[in-house]
Amino acid sequence: MSKNSIDNKMNKIVSLCKRKGYIFQSSEIYGGLDSCYDYGPLGIELKRNVKEFWWKSMVQYRDDIVGLDAAILMHPRIWEASGHVEGFVDPLIDCKTCKGRFRADQLESTPCPQKPSKMVNECGGELTEVRQFNLMFKTHMGAVEEDASAVYLRPETAQGIYVNYTNVLQSSRQKVPFGIAQIGKAFRNEITPRYFIFRTREFEQMEMQFFVKPGRDEEWFEYWKEQRIRWYDELGIRKENLRFHQHDENELAHYAAVAFDIEYNFPFGWKELEGIHNRTDFDLKRHMEYSGKDLRYFDDATRERFVPYIIETSAGCDRTLLTALVDAYEEEELENDTRTVLRLSPKIAPIKAGIFPLVKRDGMPELAHKIHDDLKRHMMVFYDEGGAVGRRYRRQDEAGTPFCITVDSQTLEDQTVTIRERDSMQQERVGMDAILNYLHERIN
Ligand code: ATP
Repeated sequence: MSKNSIDNKMNKIVSLCKRKGYIFQSSEIYGGLDSCYDYGPLGIELKRNVKEFWWKSMVQYRDDIVGLDAAILMHPRIWEASGHVEGFVDPLIDCKTCKGRFRADQLESTPCPQKPSKMVNECGGELTEVRQFNLMFKTHMGAVEEDASAVYLRPETAQGIYVNYTNVLQSSRQKVPFGIAQIGKAFRNEITPRYFIFRTREFEQMEMQFFVKPGRDEEWFEYWKEQRIRWYDELGIRKENLRFHQHDENELAHYAAVAFDIEYNFPFGWKELEGIHNRTDFDLKRHMEYSGKDLRYFDDATRERFVPYIIETSAGCDRTLLTALVDAYEEEELENDTRTVLRLSPKIAPIKAGIFPLVKRDGMPELAHKIHDDLKRHMMVFYDEGGAVGRRYRRQDEAGTPFCITVDSQTLEDQTVTIRERDSMQQERVGMDAILNYLHERIN
């Protein structure tokens, strides 16, 4: 895809997100804050649905995984033990000509701020030496700003799980193999955030750490690889746009023995969506060393004591959202015009059904209101009586709403409505008392 068509598709998605209330630039009336975004009325519903779908498949439907919500601020020694203070760095380079700051390993794909048609490695700007830049946000706890009070905004949720591993083990009566799942904010002072919500400085992760007996790690790693790619399939993401990428020795993080990314074919190329890592016993051993606490597991059955290995599945919530939006966006050529449609899976679509009276008279609005009031106790629905019904359908197509229910003159006679399906645009007549079942069946 050429740079123009990439920008074109991304610009269309960014503009749809703003127009329909999915995602707004943060602090927009003050000129915006780079790489920070706010989720609007539809965006927050989509996000909640993605998180709930993840939580159901990773926690609720399983007997061997439990949940956690750890604090964002944690003891600063944790980040020494994890290796982040020393090693969570990206190579940074400055340009003396334009005063821009860039990732030294991405110069050939970063446009020059002054000459956007050229990349930073070919624009002729005077570049400094490469420096190592730590991505953690540092702040101070309490009233005094001194080194002893320094704390970090967590750059990943995983460490909150490791330091709670014995608490969870004892309180939940789980036995190895078992997992702990968490959804929460993480912060990274990325040098070059880009591509809308793909790479931001504040984002949400959906992470699960699975504790296994050493020696069983490879089979569990394979198991989780398959489970996780299947999850995106169930989310409605097209299979041909997903693939695995194995990290070679140069890419492997300091904690990982084996790592695979699940990648998605974004308009700007194949990029990581989720990381699956065999973290070995690195993290628990380091926390044993730095905290002085014994984090070994005692296996009642075999009378063995060991430090579990950890298989991690680490997904980005915002990136999953972007994936769902990109994958669903389509401009469909119809006979006389083009319709913009978001083919989101009904499972995660923010609004499940639009409810319309065909016209604003003859008792149709009253009936449509009644349907709306009944349905809203079960799912997100939206009442709309503004403009021609065709325009109302199109507005819901663009918002990704999978079903539209219309009350018309026949409804007054036989208590049936039409239900129009977003993707096929087919309509069928359904009894008013059967609407809820109809929707439940098709959504789940
Ligand atoms: P990348 O190589 O893209 O920087 P990473 O390998 O550093 O990602 P991990 O540390 O494995 O990412 O984090 C797990 C997941 O968290 C990623 O797959 C991604 O979905 C999400 N994530 C990481 N950094 C960001 C970010 N800056 N903005 C949005 N999501 C992110």
